[in-house]
Amino acid sequence: EEQRKNRPEWLKVTAKTGKNYTALKDIMRTQSLHTVCEEAHCPNIFECWEQRTATFMILGDICTRACRFCAVHTGRPTELDLREPKRVAEAVVAMGLEHVVITSVARDDLADGGASMFAATIREVRKQVPSCSVEVLIPDFDGNWDALRLVMDAEPDILNHNVETVRRLSDSVRSRAKYDRTLELLRRAKEMKPDIPTKSSIMVGVGETMDEIYATMDDLRAVDVDILTIGQYLQPTEKHLVVERFYTPTEFLRLRGEGLKRGFRHVESGPMVRSSYHAKEQVPAGARK
Ligand code: SF4
Ligand code: SF4
Repeated sequence: EEQRKNRPEWLKVTAKTGKNYTALKDIMRTQSLHTVCEEAHCPNIFECWEQRTATFMILGDICTRACRFCAVHTGRPTELDLREPKRVAEAVVAMGLEHVVITSVARDDLADGGASMFAATIREVRKQVPSCSVEVLIPDFDGNWDALRLVMDAEPDILNHNVETVRRLSDSVRSRAKYDRTLELLRRAKEMKPDIPTKSSIMVGVGETMDEIYATMDDLRAVDVDILTIGQYLQPTEKHLVVERFYTPTEFLRLRGEGLKRGFRHVESGPMVRSSYHAKEQVPAGARK
């Protein structure tokens, strides 16, 4: 709460609403599905849902990991719901989505980390809504590259895996995930399907320096990552990691410039940017529809 009060002006959103937003909210209420948009109290929900983009969280809402920035509950996950891919696709139909992001908690309890469910969900959305582009924001499957292949073989429009922070802070900020394994996953994804754009995200404000951010950009470009998103870390509750610094809109612009200079095809950088923000615009022209 304290942090919320002290947030700079540019991070205070005013609640907006719109036709699509209200309709989508009604649909979500009637399905037992989780969206990150709602559960993470994403500040972009009005804008995204108006633009018919949403992020679904599959495989339950309990994570086997406990990253210090993340509001998702940690514990023993609930069982697999094999009908979930169908229900997600049905929601995509009902919501009239044009771009859907599928993500999940880390399911280190499952042999394939949930990869087969990602693949099934991609295929089911394709079948029911061929015009909708599908982005997956995947966990690292604990370094199981066969699991990664299951996802790549289902051919998402964008393969997203977040590095989250710079090398020096990775082990303390993220639980179980490893900086180099993240890079390795992105490298292998590109190797398996060179035509599928890869994407990653850095949240800033957890104690990194500008130079460390640039080094992370270089690391991502070295494994051919195409799309980069950079946003401000906000502390979800007072038990979570404290915000070290709020970057100004001008600094986000500078980061965007540095990203483009390094050859990312698309860079979203701003205080409210989240991994899936403006995702529809990142799908290569002619890929869908
Ligand atoms: Fe949902 Fe992502 Fe948009 Fe936030 S940025 S509302 S999580 S689609
Ligand atoms: Fe949150 Fe993902 Fe970390 Fe789980 S693995 S705690 S969902 S960021």
